[in-house]
Amino acid sequence: MMRLPKFEYRVPRTIAEALQIVTDVGAEAQFVAGGTDLYPNMKRRQQMPKTVISVMRLPELHRVSGVGSRGLVIGASVTLTELCENEIIRRDYPVIASAARTISTPILRNMGTIGGNLLLDTRCNYYDQNYEWRKAINFCLKKDGDVCWVAPGSAKCWAVQSSDLVPVMVAVGAKFRVVSAAGERMVEARDFYKDDGIDYMNKRPDELLVDVHLPPTNGWRASYQKLRRRGAFDFPVLGVAAYVRFDTSAVDEAPGPAVADAQIVLGGIAPSPVQVKEAAKALIGKSLGDDQIQAAAEAAYVKARPLDNTDFVYQWRKQMARQYTIRALRDLIM
Ligand SMILES: Cc1cc2nc3c(=O)[nH]c(=O)nc-3n(C[C@H](O)[C@H](O)[C@H](O)COP(=O)(O)OP(=O)(O)OC[C@H]3O[C@@H](n4cnc5c(N)ncnc54)[C@H](O)[C@@H]3O)c2cc1C
Ligand code: SF4
Repeated sequence: MMRLPKFEYRVPRTIAEALQIVTDVGAEAQFVAGGTDLYPNMKRRQQMPKTVISVMRLPELHRVSGVGSRGLVIGASVTLTELCENEIIRRDYPVIASAARTISTPILRNMGTIGGNLLLDTRCNYYDQNYEWRKAINFCLKKDGDVCWVAPGSAKCWAVQSSDLVPVMVAVGAKFRVVSAAGERMVEARDFYKDDGIDYMNKRPDELLVDVHLPPTNGWRASYQKLRRRGAFDFPVLGVAAYVRFDTSAVDEAPGPAVADAQIVLGGIAPSPVQVKEAAKALIGKSLGDDQIQAAAEAAYVKARPLDNTDFVYQWRKQMARQYTIRALRDLIM
């Protein structure tokens, strides 16, 4: 049985108190929400904070406010189950509820939060193992070692961004509000993730994620399609988020309104979400017909370069980028 290492557990009641603790403790501190990612990582000795600061008693982080026509703000400690069940999210942002519903299991969704999901550690077959397993291969670049077993000549870690909500947030243009003792900043989801399996976020450890800001739903639709081995629960080994905003004032020669804006974002295949700009180009200005969907799917296939560090054969996951893009876009046809 894997046991947690010893640590001090702090439960602040205000954001100011949480920031004071993290400032006082420094690099040895780490925030925790539901703990469904952090605690297994601590048991595997991948992350070893001496002080763990719960964000579950901070009232601001539990709020959901707004509505589709104005935009929605979701507190970082809102659980995945709450995301699935919230009536406004289900009605105005169904893609968020449906993507959350694909995450892990009902019990883990009761504990796991939106914030923890967006800040999930990157994953790799050579890293998500217990301490003894990793020691037997002399560890790897991401923790305690000096070689990457996936790409031995590489100076970079290729561990995979494996959150189901991240590609969706990038596709729909969400923003994240983070605070620290130094102040507050708002970061676009698309600028928040870095293509490096070790240094994978534009967020300092002392910064607290307070909430997620979703844009108004002014005519856009979005869909998320997930590839995993077991439908009941498993991390994505490919996730495709498709976002389309229709221009209802201009109609193409084909039936249906023209696409005014589009995003195709791939998750589960690289250290950061992959925006397929060529796919968006193939869609904008035309109606969402078979030829456009096929062209966008081809662009996703070309851009997808999964590595051999998660489940399934990576060449097959690349093929699936095409199929899952088709699936996501067909889901958006009105
Ligand atoms: C068996 C299993 C299956 C899973 N399947 C999936 C899956 O299919 N898809 C998926 O996306 N995830 C999956 N997960 C991962 C995880 O359950 C979810 O991503 C969950 O949403 C994480 O939320 P949490 O609140 O438990 O995060 P925690 O473990 O509490 O935290 C995760 C990270 O976020 C940081 N953090 C949390 N809140 C804040 C905050 N407000 N400010 C600053 N830092 C913060 C923590 O320090 C930590 O680094 C799975 C986990 C398990 C154990
Ligand atoms: S990609 Fe390489 S360095 Fe990163 S976790 Fe996997 S084996 Fe380690």
